[in-house]
Amino acid sequence: MKNLDEGFIKFNCKRIDEHINLPSNIFSDLNKWRDIMYESGLIGAYSNGIGYGNISIRSNAAGFYISGTATGRLVALNQDHYPLVNSWSVNDNSLICTGKINASAESLSHAVIYDALPEVGAVIHIHHKAMWDKYLNNLPTTSSNILYGTPEMAYEIESIVQKTEASQDSILVMAGHEEGIIVWGKSLEEAGEMLLNYYKPLLKSN
Ligand SMILES: [Zn+2]
Repeated sequence: MKNLDEGFIKFNCKRIDEHINLPSNIFSDLNKWRDIMYESGLIGAYSNGIGYGNISIRSNAAGFYISGTATGRLVALNQDHYPLVNSWSVNDNSLICTGKINASAESLSHAVIYDALPEVGAVIHIHHKAMWDKYLNNLPTTSSNILYGTPEMAYEIESIVQKTEASQDSILVMAGHEEGIIVWGKSLEEAGEMLLNYYKPLLKSN
């Protein structure tokens, strides 16, 4: 079994275990859009209980708040479900966060977008098979040989994000992470509305 890990740098989350108070506007914004994503099945859990999707907002100080690991199966989230990611190293596949639960390995996909684009205030990562099938290679898409949770995926996302023109929608498809799509925007409102513009046409055709 050990061969499975060969060549991969294991994700490492170091957590400062304390309750944090999110600014109330950030908490309500996160929950509003997390609820919309959850109700649409864009964030949730598979039948085996494994959760998918995450949502984040840049902090006014440093870092960002993100829905924590294993929250996909929960109907409603409270403050303790959104740890603050304080700092990160993409090379080391590691981060430091503060809160009552860990930030997910996918936090680094959010982190590189905040690093690359100072104007970005929010990132959403969702899973949806039909959207993924439809937009794979029709929207900016990461290479299929680059896998989820690796520094390579984070760097690939960073490179696509930097190449995205202002006239283009801020959305990308993760070929090496089945069902994975990422959107970003100045606010969660902007990122979320844009994502729904890509999601809603699929409802009509079903
Ligand atoms: Zn994912």
